[in-house]
Amino acid sequence: MSASVVLATRNPGKIVELRRILSGLGRRLLTSAEVGLPDLPETGETFADNALAKARAGVAVCGLACLSDDSGLVVDALGGQPGVRSARYSGRRDDQANLRLLLERMADVTDRRARFVCVAALVAPDGREWTAEGVLEGSIAQAPRGSGGFGYDPVFVPLGQRRTTAELAPEDKDAISHRGKAFRTIRTAVAEL
Ligand code: IMP
Repeated sequence: MSASVVLATRNPGKIVELRRILSGLGRRLLTSAEVGLPDLPETGETFADNALAKARAGVAVCGLACLSDDSGLVVDALGGQPGVRSARYSGRRDDQANLRLLLERMADVTDRRARFVCVAALVAPDGREWTAEGVLEGSIAQAPRGSGGFGYDPVFVPLGQRRTTAELAPEDKDAISHRGKAFRTIRTAVAEL
């Protein structure tokens, strides 16, 4: 029987993206909710710390290989914020409130350079561990546009493009996204399980 891999995240937007990116591997992809993983606090100072902590904790609870990621938006003019705190920038897990706060803080800012960063982590029950990082460079738009994706997608314009990531077709976002890059790299490790 092919190995099962748990997608150790409760973010529905990410689950949709990960199922697309990891399709065709012949692995059964389960979710945190299906195997009863608790929502783990993210207390690390780096994306890699948080991604590995989530995958290790997942293995300890369910005994299956766990794949997790930690990702966020890094804005140059804000000294790298919201960074590892992207999901709760406004103090709560609310995409609309986070996006409003970001635009408020960027109101008078002319240097709008930013990047999405993702670190994917895979931990196997036998203790083997892998990580992979993906980055998507871009800038912060003046106002939200588009209805696709999740989180900060309506205000993120990839370098060299005019549309926000919320205006891209899902497969076009995957082809260039931080998460697409990180998980395409870690796919090789998933195939080795
Ligand atoms: P976490 O990785 O679960 O801590 O959440 C990362 C947070 O970063 C998300 O809740 C979003 O706010 C933001 N983020 C990460 N990747 C993306 C993306 O592809 N589009 C939009 N926002 C993202």
